[in-house]
Amino acid sequence: MVDLVSQYQNIQEQVQEKMNEVLSSAQFINGPEVKSFQKELEDYLDVKHVIPCANGTDALQVALMSLGLKPGDEVITANFTFAATVEVIDLLRLKSKLVDVDAETFCIDPQAIEKAITPNTKAIIPVHLFGQCAPMEEILEIAKQHDLYVVEDTAQAIGAGYTFSNGEVKKAGTMGTIGTTSFFPSKNLGCYGDGGAIFTNDDDLAHRMRGIVNHGMYERYYHDEIGVNSRLDSLQAAVLRVKLPLLDSYNEARQKAADYYDKAFETHPNIQTPARNQAVSTHVFHQYTLRVTGKDRNALQKFLAEKEIPAMIYYPVPLHRQKAYDDGSYADEDFPVTMQLIDEVISLPMHTELTQEQQNYITSQIIEFLGN
Ligand SMILES: *Cc1c(COP(=O)(O)O)cnc(C)c1O
Repeated sequence: MVDLVSQYQNIQEQVQEKMNEVLSSAQFINGPEVKSFQKELEDYLDVKHVIPCANGTDALQVALMSLGLKPGDEVITANFTFAATVEVIDLLRLKSKLVDVDAETFCIDPQAIEKAITPNTKAIIPVHLFGQCAPMEEILEIAKQHDLYVVEDTAQAIGAGYTFSNGEVKKAGTMGTIGTTSFFPSKNLGCYGDGGAIFTNDDDLAHRMRGIVNHGMYERYYHDEIGVNSRLDSLQAAVLRVKLPLLDSYNEARQKAADYYDKAFETHPNIQTPARNQAVSTHVFHQYTLRVTGKDRNALQKFLAEKEIPAMIYYPVPLHRQKAYDDGSYADEDFPVTMQLIDEVISLPMHTELTQEQQNYITSQIIEFLGN
């Protein structure tokens, strides 16, 4: 699915040099590398504050902790996403409200958000799923009307841009109250271990989150609130400082690979290629996800595995059907799009080092299996 070895070989010298500097300095935690990376990411995203942390799940958790929500307050998020998004809501004893997604973009459906709002709703977490921004203009409008916080889960879409109807362009993760991301190795900007970051333009929230990630400590050994221990280590920051300047070219390589897949499947009656809502959002293709219609998706996956082509189902089980999150209040009928997607989606190999030869093999095998 991803080829991190080839990507590493292309940047090996710079990475090793940077890592050696960190090793020689022995400043492994909160050293100058982390500060420099923070600054460089703030510049790249054009956001006032970046708060580095240990992973993308912590980033979501700390973001929610900073908003001063009370147990039972409701947070709306998508039913079709990675579990981390909903996990942190329930972990904090908030109430998750799962809603359906859009059939074209797989991202949270604004109409479903509006229907789920109650007097207890306090926040929305849109997920920029598979690399394309959720419809932020509509979501921000809903949030404004109902006085809700918006926390953007940008783990799959770092570097994507969103264009508002007034022509203004903003980077994913910088539009809502807070944005969060993950630097898990296979993400579009991945380090060589765990890492994450939180973004905001709000000075007070940034101050609060800097305290929360450091044991609720604002002055050394004075703990004003219960925090967590969530840090990006300096070796990971060193890797990220080499890769951040390459992020746009990495995302372009993914888009080029997506173009190739799109073209190969353009007219196939059983394949729906991922919609690109290009007038509004760039798509940075964390995943390239097809919908297979009128044919057996699972049989296709099995066939590809036999041909040594990895293909994954993101996501096979919707969150409302997961034991941890099924509180009895949901029915499959509440999520017609999600229920269809879980049977139809299949994600193909997608990374920065895909060759045309590999893609030619992948696409021809898929077409051979499906016919035409
Ligand atoms: C990867 C991911 C996360 C979690 O990030 P970690 O760094 O693995 O904790 C959260 N949300 C989404 C949508 C993700 O894809």
